[in-house]
Amino acid sequence: MTPSNASRPPLEPQRGSSLAGKAYWAMVQRVALTAATIDAGYILLFLWLGSMPLAAINVLSIAMYLGAFRLIQKRYNTAALALIWLEVIGHSALGSLLIGWESGFHYYLLMFIPAIVIANTRGYATPMVLALLAYYLGLHMLSDAVGPLDPLPVQSVKIVNWVHICVVFAMSAALSAFYRRTILIAEARLRKQATRDPLTGLANRSHFDAQATEALERSRRSGVPVTLLLCDVDHFKRVNDQYGHAVGDQVLVAMGQVLADNLREGDVLARWGGEEFLALMPASPLDAARATAERIRAAVAHAPLSVGPAPITLTLSFGVAQVHGPDDLQAAIARADQALYAAKHAGRNRVQLAGESATDAVAASA
Ligand code: GH3
Ligand code: MG
Ligand code: MG
Repeated sequence: MTPSNASRPPLEPQRGSSLAGKAYWAMVQRVALTAATIDAGYILLFLWLGSMPLAAINVLSIAMYLGAFRLIQKRYNTAALALIWLEVIGHSALGSLLIGWESGFHYYLLMFIPAIVIANTRGYATPMVLALLAYYLGLHMLSDAVGPLDPLPVQSVKIVNWVHICVVFAMSAALSAFYRRTILIAEARLRKQATRDPLTGLANRSHFDAQATEALERSRRSGVPVTLLLCDVDHFKRVNDQYGHAVGDQVLVAMGQVLADNLREGDVLARWGGEEFLALMPASPLDAARATAERIRAAVAHAPLSVGPAPITLTLSFGVAQVHGPDDLQAAIARADQALYAAKHAGRNRVQLAGESATDAVAASA
């Protein structure tokens, strides 16, 4: 059965995923170079132990690994992988048949198990592992049946076995480290996708809620006030209409940056909607938060944004509301929204406190 994309479990690495991407092939190239270097060492070992056939086989192995490296450079990735497979399968067979199963040439085959299962190419991991197992057992039986074709002294075979054990331990650890790094990178990417607004990189709504709840719990214990700033770009639709959607996007990114630059370390800033931003300011009484909003408002109104074909002057309106504990968060957002609506109604480019009449608001001074 060929699994379709639709039936594929979501956790399975997909074509184009990080595991099948550049980092994976760079890792395969590193493995090929490392294996070629190790095989050069084996040539010396087998010359010292007096096994010319095994020394000669390692010369061929080096050629195959360097060939695989070159093939990946030329983007013949599948051919490179096939060459590496052929090398390990052939080398383990020749080594086991020439000097015996006890030499440990077969350990290298075991390194394919995690590689097969993690890559799970086209969903064929199980039959491939079973085929590997059949080959492994078959080779074991065959080498026992025919005996060493070019025997070495028992002590020499032991030395070869120990060297193989050390190399396989080292290579397995290095490969495991690569797989771990791959998982951590994928995890970080997913976390970012789940918590960030893709355009501005600011927190999204659900991440804001989670962070705000934590901040409110902390402030409840310490008793310091927390304030919300809800901010909306005035007449933003005109930017899109006049300069196009792409410039509108750049304006939103720039606005997010201005807000982030003017907030403090522990403040939580989110893109709340299209051209709306929401900030939660722990340890900020209403007056201090209003002053911050006013500073940002004035800064934006006085500094045209350098995006698009010409500098764009925009203004912001703010609704400000105090939050009385974690249970009050949604109600406080609604109060900030009402205050923002009042600021818009009163002429925009102003900061409006929740519960305060619009005439008391900090009116546009510029
Ligand atoms: P007001 O001063 O009353 O807030 O007017 P406005 O034009 O800013 O508000 P309105 O709600 O009429 O329009 C908001 C516009 O924001 C409409 C929508 O196309 C645009 N918008 C929403 N999200 C995005 C986005 O991600 N990128 C861009 N470029 N535009 C967006
Ligand atoms: Mg607007
Ligand atoms: Mg809006």
